[in-house]
Amino acid sequence: MADRPEPMLSVEEAQDRLLEAVGSPLPVEDVPLAQALDRALAEPIRSAVDLPPWDNSSMDGFAVHAADVAGATATAPIRLRVVGDVRAGGSPHVDVPPGCAVRIATGAPMPPSADAVVPVETTIVAEEGADSAIGEAARVEPARVEPAPAGSTRALGFRALEPLPDACLVTAAVEPGAFIRRRGEDVRAGMLLLEPHRRVGPAQIALAAAVGVDSLRVHRRPVAGVLSTGDELRLAGQELGESGIPDANRPGLLAMCSDAGARAADLGIAGDSLESILRALRPAIEGSDLLIVSGGVSLGPYDIVRTAFEALGQVELWRVAIQPGKPFAFGRSSPRDGDGRRVLLFGLPGNPVSALVTFELFVRPALQRLSGLPAPTARVDRAVTEGRLEKAAGRRGYLRVTVVRDGYGSPIRDPQGRLRVRVAGHQGSHVLSAMAVADALAIVPEAVERLEPGAEVEIRWLRA
Ligand code: AMP
Ligand code: MG
Repeated sequence: MADRPEPMLSVEEAQDRLLEAVGSPLPVEDVPLAQALDRALAEPIRSAVDLPPWDNSSMDGFAVHAADVAGATATAPIRLRVVGDVRAGGSPHVDVPPGCAVRIATGAPMPPSADAVVPVETTIVAEEGADSAIGEAARVEPARVEPAPAGSTRALGFRALEPLPDACLVTAAVEPGAFIRRRGEDVRAGMLLLEPHRRVGPAQIALAAAVGVDSLRVHRRPVAGVLSTGDELRLAGQELGESGIPDANRPGLLAMCSDAGARAADLGIAGDSLESILRALRPAIEGSDLLIVSGGVSLGPYDIVRTAFEALGQVELWRVAIQPGKPFAFGRSSPRDGDGRRVLLFGLPGNPVSALVTFELFVRPALQRLSGLPAPTARVDRAVTEGRLEKAAGRRGYLRVTVVRDGYGSPIRDPQGRLRVRVAGHQGSHVLSAMAVADALAIVPEAVERLEPGAEVEIRWLRA
């Protein structure tokens, strides 16, 4: 550990160093589909089956021979005798003789003897005994055709639930193969469906289920221990006395960890003494992948977090050129007994806004790497500032801003797609009330000291 702090790092330099130190993701485990949401796939998913598993109808309608209805039009419909019914989940082994049709539901297996589906929307159910030609394809005189109910596909769709009609009048021709979803059209057996490192979302869960997969191999979720330090800190509800303050960082950082997909472990509050901090951290090394300590990390007389980290492994004190947020400490424990893993150690600034912002910029990427997820695509957007934005030169500013919204609470965008932002209140790094109403952080480049109203600025959404 150098006596003097190192020169200031840019945000990107700090993030790169950090990810290099984090190294590879956590080990893998197999979890039931329902628990895989937001985890990272650890191995490719291949399908063992075809999807759809068999040819099936894409419409409610009638399975037919396309040749039988080749000339059908609304004014010259063709009558087919209805000789059976195939439901979704039913048997496809229903014979469709020439000149006949079988009623079929969406998703029902295609009878092998038919070669097309006529959607119910282009049919009219023929009244019983309305035509003597039942049994074979027959032209029907236009005068004898009742008009289809005006445009109501819903009413037509319900026919599938009604008693089987004797016959149907087909009012439009179909090509062979029409409205049939072929076996394997979506997925072929052996096909690579999803690659490792992909975040599992609802669509991936649905796909896995669709090909009969009920568990996924994913990376383990990181376990993050969160400790607050400071003699002034009190638990919620405790008497504050003349110099106490409620501990805000621990609840906030525990929530940040859960939000970032980690399992958060509450390590409580430690006082400003090495013994007190080590008493909380030592036992936590065993079951954690990273430990997050807030407070006691700057160069003041009581900043003993660095010393505590040194007792557990190695630590570097980083001064990152950001506002708010410098400095913070990053370290790694000595290899742990048992699995030899090093636990990541984060010492975040005590000021609550700085703690939350440094978590977002540095701890979240580390958690994602441990989880096997790709580098986060920050939710950035372009905006125009309504008021003046000011900050110190030489450091990148992450200013708390609110996004201007319409009467329904939706963000307003100008014709170029840019949002409008306003400062969310006082920008001090202790001002939680501004952080809590902020929608986003406005990112003001290092060299810029002030942005005048109307200036364009990049923003990073805090939560979607
Ligand atoms: P430190 O980083 O320990 O020097 O703390 C900087 C400022 O943040 C001080 O005003 C602390 O009282 C405050 N602070 C530190 N930890 C917390 C916490 N857990 N909750 C609220 N304020 C805190
Ligand atoms: Mg302190």
